[in-house]
Amino acid sequence: MRRKDAITDLPEKSIEMRPRRIRKEDTRMSKYDELAKTLKAKLAELIDRAEIIEDDLRHPLDADSEEQAVDLADDEALAGVDDVLRKEIADTRNALGRIENGTYGTCANCGAEISENRLEALPTATLCINCA
Ligand SMILES: [Zn+2]
Repeated sequence: MRRKDAITDLPEKSIEMRPRRIRKEDTRMSKYDELAKTLKAKLAELIDRAEIIEDDLRHPLDADSEEQAVDLADDEALAGVDDVLRKEIADTRNALGRIENGTYGTCANCGAEISENRLEALPTATLCINCA
């Protein structure tokens, strides 16, 4: 009896069930979670491509003259692609940065929300349809 009383008197395990109060922010974050993942994967792929192109550009041309003519043409084409790539990389990094600091989806010019349709079509858009 006495022993049982002693056990009953022990304070209940006071596990505090803290309600998670960050739920709203969680939801907001996860809205662009998938997109951030997609953009990160895209960024890695773009950087890979850029590195391959830069490697090609860095390698000196073959001494063989016939090869040289072909390589030169290729390099010129690659240099053009590189600019596009560089812009894509910058835009993608920019979009990821905006997801992180919470300004993603907001027009950089007028501050209006950029429509989801527009963001879907152009995930790196920084301007709303009216300002673009
Ligand atoms: Zn705008």
